Amino acid sequence: MARVYNFSAGPAVLPETVLKKAADEMLDYKGCGMSVMEVSHREKVFEGIIAKAEVDLREIMGIPSNYKVLFLQGGASLQFAMVPMNLMVKNKKADYVHTGMWSKKAIAEAKKFGTVNIVASSEKDKFTYIPKLDPATFSKEADYFYIVTNNTICGTTYKNIPETGNIPLIADMSSNILSEPVDVSKFGLIFAGAQKNIGPAGLTIVIIREDLAGKAPATVPTLLDYKTHIEEKSLYNTPPCYSIYIAGLVFEWIKEKGGLKEMQKINQEKAKILYDYLDQSKIFKSPVQKESRSIMNVPFVSGNEELDKKFLEGASQRGLKSLKGHRSVGGMRASIYNAMPADGIKTLVRFMEEFEKQN
Ligand SMILES: *Cc1c(COP(=O)(O)O)cnc(C)c1O
Repeated sequence: MARVYNFSAGPAVLPETVLKKAADEMLDYKGCGMSVMEVSHREKVFEGIIAKAEVDLREIMGIPSNYKVLFLQGGASLQFAMVPMNLMVKNKKADYVHTGMWSKKAIAEAKKFGTVNIVASSEKDKFTYIPKLDPATFSKEADYFYIVTNNTICGTTYKNIPETGNIPLIADMSSNILSEPVDVSKFGLIFAGAQKNIGPAGLTIVIIREDLAGKAPATVPTLLDYKTHIEEKSLYNTPPCYSIYIAGLVFEWIKEKGGLKEMQKINQEKAKILYDYLDQSKIFKSPVQKESRSIMNVPFVSGNEELDKKFLEGASQRGLKSLKGHRSVGGMRASIYNAMPADGIKTLVRFMEEFEKQN
């Protein structure tokens, strides 16, 4: 069967060359006579895999040496709790920007550990933009300041990263990590579930400024303390070995492609094809304000449920898969991560034009 164009928000499309390499190495990884899935995480072979993945990620993102890279489990959702458990420890207060369902969940978790100050929210407008931030509303005593850099469900993204001075900035980058260059030194901690733009589910990447770890109260379970994973180099217990291996192949693929500057250029061009079409379409439109539009997740609506259903069926028949929008937004959503080829988007737009003519 031919491969489809998979617009799923996550788990999501992976580069075909990565999947082929993994297939080639499936039964015998580099002459060790085993699959990576079968190798002990205490073996040299696996130590090499995880070390190389870290070196490549550091190179791609330009991660400064005073930051640690951790390969964890529990998804991005566990970070909603680990962040306050480890960092909401001095004044037990934190600032959050509320931009959608993922910030909502993070806020709910943080409230279990201290006081949450919501500095801005776009909830009243259904999260169709990133709210303007007024530094006068930031808490002086916040232990940290929390944002979701790309809102996977609503399709919004920050065009400027907030300046929070001495207050560590924490970012959920699950759906836009590696899509463009970022200045890691602006952040205290970055986390991302792998299944959007990095690799298979089961792996969560955490990039943490060294000095922020080691302050968790003694009541925090060992596995939920960043310090444990820093000291044990993400090998305190069995890590998600195969997901780390695939993530490593994806990092190599990004390097071959020319790094994050090049990814950004490609991603902007890809997203433009879709937004340009949407902005002139008579039946589909983007619900997101122009200055907040994501280049990774593009929701679009027709405003007519019957038409949406017909569109999704037609798209599926043409191998354009997983375009159904999140239930909270409705309509459609095209997730166009790094691994989505430009041809996938061109094929989608051609079908939208055809559909528009017929309806
Ligand atoms: C998908 C997603 C999550 C949840 O990730 P899990 O790994 O399923 O816990 C959190 N935040 C953002 C921005 C996401 O896109």
